[in-house]
Amino acid sequence: AMAELPKTMKAVQIDQTGGVDVLQYRDVPVPGDLKDGEVLIKNEFIGINYIDTYFRSGVYNPPSFPYTLGREGAGTIAALGPNTPSDLKINTRVAYFSGNSYAEYVRATSDKVMPLPSSIDTKTAAASPIQALTALTLIRESHPVQAGDWILVTAAAGGVGLWLCQLLKAVGAKTIATASTAEKRELAKQNGAEVTLGYYEEDREKFVQEVLKITGGEGVAAVFDSVGKATFDSSLKVVKRMGSMVSFGNASGPVTGFALSRLTDKNIKLLRPSLTSYITSREELLPYANELWKFIEKDGLSVKIHDVYPLKDVKRATEDIESRKTTGKLLLEP
Ligand code: NDP
Repeated sequence: AMAELPKTMKAVQIDQTGGVDVLQYRDVPVPGDLKDGEVLIKNEFIGINYIDTYFRSGVYNPPSFPYTLGREGAGTIAALGPNTPSDLKINTRVAYFSGNSYAEYVRATSDKVMPLPSSIDTKTAAASPIQALTALTLIRESHPVQAGDWILVTAAAGGVGLWLCQLLKAVGAKTIATASTAEKRELAKQNGAEVTLGYYEEDREKFVQEVLKITGGEGVAAVFDSVGKATFDSSLKVVKRMGSMVSFGNASGPVTGFALSRLTDKNIKLLRPSLTSYITSREELLPYANELWKFIEKDGLSVKIHDVYPLKDVKRATEDIESRKTTGKLLLEP
């Protein structure tokens, strides 16, 4: 039977883009009037992603205001709209990636909702939809990684970064992991990286030489670069002939004004992928989810939780991820 739903809930909204002070923890109506294929989920944990900061700061534009931030979480189904798939029932444990998740309850289309095997704990589940599935689509679709490939990963101790280190190890690739501190580099190593490097901000040419040395002068089969503006040039330089330059984030600012002629020397493939353009339906979502749960169950992949913050402490959590102090996953608890 359907539990009695409250009329209002706590949520984190913004009325304009800007610094962390635009974040408002407030009472809002619980989403109602579920449309075809939609479910209402009661969040147990909400995942924080770097992209949330882009929507708050204005790097990306929120569709309208007031806007409830957040794009993923895990919990249980509290209500069903018409025509929902039969594997989603009241109280089914689920993880999802869908907007407006910084709240006690969230409305989501079942296309973005995956039921959880009992072996997957809810924190791991809340940490997975965006960061782990991004890492998985990068190694399967953006550059289908082969055993023995050298791969360069930036921000390797971050959320996506640690999943990449583990997945690449599991498929037999060799990762060169970059991160800004010795502690972060050690963590990347513990998560499967073969070699670690700093960013060499003062001398990017030295960085290029280091990567070439490690790879026997050849360069890497692919770069998975999420830092963007600051590292794009040095990343492109270390891709081997016919390799892939995969730019999938803007932590230091977006890459603009790229001359295509720069690809010619080495016939490099350049991609700017997004998870939501790889996974657009339930048919595309569930095989990826199942592959991920298998990596966790059989290969022992796990997520390092940086911290679980009460939802009302969203400002502190946001400041922590933006100031590069965090490793692994940040969660909010409503
Ligand atoms: P992270 O946990 O990786 O946090 C961001 C990290 O970026 C920091 O810890 C920091 O690591 C690094 N960084 C480098 N330069 C800067 C800077 N100038 N300011 C702040 N941080 C910087 O976040 P996520 O795992 O959530 O996301 C990682 C990246 O992947 C983001 O750029 C995000 O936008 C992108 N992404 C893209 C997706 C897609 O579909 N295209 C999906 C998911 C994520 P360090 O100090 O070691 O450099």
